[in-house]
Amino acid sequence: MVILIQASYFLAAVLFILGLKQMSSPVTARRGILWSGVGMVLATLVTFLDPSLHGVSNYLLMVVAIILGGGYAWQKGRTVAMVDMPQMIALFNGMGGGAAGAIAAVELFGAINQSQAIPGAGVSLVLSSDVAIVAIVGAFIGTLSFSGSLVAWAKLDGRFRRTSLVPQQHWVNLGLLVLVIYLGVKLFDTDSTLLVLLFFLLVLLLGVFVTTPVGGADMPVAISLFNALTGLAVGLEGYVLDNAAMIIAGTVVGSAGTLLTQLMAKAMNRSVWNVLFGGFGQSGGAKEASEIEGSMKEIQSQDAAIMMAYASQVVIVPGYGMAVAQAQHKVWELAELLEENNVKVKFAIHPVAGRMPGHMNVLLAEAGVPYDKIFDMDEINPDFPTTTVALVIGANDVVNPDARNDKSSPLYGMPVLDAAKAENVIVIKRGAGTGFSGVENALFYQDNTQMLYGDGQQVAGELIQHLKKL
Ligand code: NDP
Repeated sequence: MVILIQASYFLAAVLFILGLKQMSSPVTARRGILWSGVGMVLATLVTFLDPSLHGVSNYLLMVVAIILGGGYAWQKGRTVAMVDMPQMIALFNGMGGGAAGAIAAVELFGAINQSQAIPGAGVSLVLSSDVAIVAIVGAFIGTLSFSGSLVAWAKLDGRFRRTSLVPQQHWVNLGLLVLVIYLGVKLFDTDSTLLVLLFFLLVLLLGVFVTTPVGGADMPVAISLFNALTGLAVGLEGYVLDNAAMIIAGTVVGSAGTLLTQLMAKAMNRSVWNVLFGGFGQSGGAKEASEIEGSMKEIQSQDAAIMMAYASQVVIVPGYGMAVAQAQHKVWELAELLEENNVKVKFAIHPVAGRMPGHMNVLLAEAGVPYDKIFDMDEINPDFPTTTVALVIGANDVVNPDARNDKSSPLYGMPVLDAAKAENVIVIKRGAGTGFSGVENALFYQDNTQMLYGDGQQVAGELIQHLKKL
């Protein structure tokens, strides 16, 4: 039986790794998700055969929990709107961290119960030193990821907008971190239930406190970091439970998440430490609209269509608003019409455009935009000064020139798409809404910029109609 279990775990691990590999391209990503899902179902079912579960009396509870949790996730996954996807990822990621933290809690409280029968013995004696250390570190990481991810979910869902909960938030966070580390070390040979409770409570609080100040441009890095932490916590608790599938799945998620965090942090020009413990991303220091020089000028869709029809090159910059408007199909139709008019069309993608990594790539792939027309920030930025029209559709923060030019801007230091340097900029958006960071955008007030107001899909449709008539 043990051989069968280990062989199934091995097969599940192979499915996780091959699945992850396939997720690196939009062409094979669906298959990759399916393979990893099959691996996860296999690992879960096989665990029920584990001899160490014999004598466990709460099978019914486990089955009911799996049906409820799995059913909810299945239903939510099928019905979630594309724009709500990041919130859902943050929520599900938090549940993973919470599960790892809960396993650690069960192990630690269990060890304390046993140790109380032996005077002077602590957690480390009951669990053995290495297991105790791993359980405590996993408890810290998993619980932090749980409460941090819940705050990220609330922020992304627009339910929570505060950037501090106490005065001098960052110093309080640092103090809390030191206290939690001290308690974690004390836990190693404690037999006090109260200490374990206090530890978990303070880690929960730390997760809330470090995520509250994270705002605007830093959120993608924070979410990706929590994702990596959840994976790591699951892997560590897999070691505590001696469960190979958990160790492998956790390590795969932890390492992939760490790589993604590094890539995102590099793209945003931030260090992870700065995201969690710096003062960055707060709205303090942002310019009010009245402080920006220049004025916003409006353009009508007919004039915008004429301008683009006679352009030599148009670079389309999609952002979150294109996702909200579900305008990707119309935008591609527009691009094809322009190409028929001998206009060169390129798409420029910022690494954090939208609300999740690769958000714009997925939408453009769905609309059938060929990959050779899609360019990363570093590839496309030198092109902007020789571009006749930069068509910004639903993007805001990722084209804000203050990120380069204004040291007082909360976005300062974040690399942006240089749409501002194009000969003409047309911005499609509904009104005066700011982007995710809440920072006013100097691009909209530049002399070479004109605003084309309306819903992204509707305006793209109007542009298509006008182009067809030319
Ligand atoms: P932004 O959030 O900066 O701006 C979106 C703009 O779209 C708004 O200004 C809004 O203006 C406009 N808009 C909204 N709905 C519509 C619509 N139906 N039609 C037309 N326009 C619309 O988007 P960006 O993509 O530029 O930047 C992404 C931001 O999200 C960054 O700050 C990034 O850090 C953050 N983020 C990114 C994540 C990721 O992983 N990619 C995750 C979490 C956060 P108006 O209301 O006037 O229409």
